[in-house]
Amino acid sequence: MNHRNDAKENTLELRRVFQELLDDEKERGDIGVTSFKVVFDELMEVQKQKLREITKEQFESLYESGFIICIGVAYRDPIIDHIDNKVTSEVDYPLWNEYAREYDRINQVLNRMAPAIASQFDGIPLKATIGGMIGEVEHVWEYWPLVVSHRVVAENSGIGWRGKNQLIIHEKFSCAIRFASIITAMTLQQGKRMESMCGDCTACEDACGFIRQRDILPDYRENCRKYILFLKSKGIEKDICGKCIKACYRQSKFQKQFTL
Ligand code: SF4
Ligand code: SF4
Repeated sequence: MNHRNDAKENTLELRRVFQELLDDEKERGDIGVTSFKVVFDELMEVQKQKLREITKEQFESLYESGFIICIGVAYRDPIIDHIDNKVTSEVDYPLWNEYAREYDRINQVLNRMAPAIASQFDGIPLKATIGGMIGEVEHVWEYWPLVVSHRVVAENSGIGWRGKNQLIIHEKFSCAIRFASIITAMTLQQGKRMESMCGDCTACEDACGFIRQRDILPDYRENCRKYILFLKSKGIEKDICGKCIKACYRQSKFQKQFTL
């Protein structure tokens, strides 16, 4: 069997296994594949170092011909509406915390699925970004060496486009989807990176001044980190905000197309 047929058959099997795991978990999601090299070349230097440490002696061959699989699990309606919900003029933080708990639950689902796929496809799982570190670091820059960006994997695998809110926008689930990744040496068919479809939409910029002013702020993600710390002081249990996810899902120009 030639290389192209291998890739096709392996990818079909990968999709079948992924769907079976999704069904077992009673979740919905999507999967994509990109090359290890493309992801590595786009990562920040500190994250490249992290990926070298993870792949050890396999690094050179993976860089030459390896792949990274991106798996995504979507949130369920109506949890996104619990973000920044105002019954009167008061924000309902306990309700917002329900979204934080769902974030945690989906991470756990991904962290069961990623090792299961890794074990069947001779891979290395990169778990979902769990958080919990945001208050441990002095600045968002200290956070980057701790994680490998699933968004870079997702974007290059064609699962969605990079939105103005910097999240990956899936054509069905909006950015209400979380990711984990699996590194593998197995030959697979790659997805095609999507160009941004945001166009003239400004829903996430309207919802968050940090996104709106991202070009003039030194690093808007540091403002975001501080806002998340503020939310934690209000009783939110995880490192989340989510207002830019809700804005994209509910107010963007794709709101009629998105469904959870
Ligand atoms: S998570 Fe919240 S603070 Fe951070 S960019 Fe999105 S809306 Fe703004
Ligand atoms: S809200 Fe609009 S501009 Fe922002 S990421 Fe979603 S589609 Fe793009």
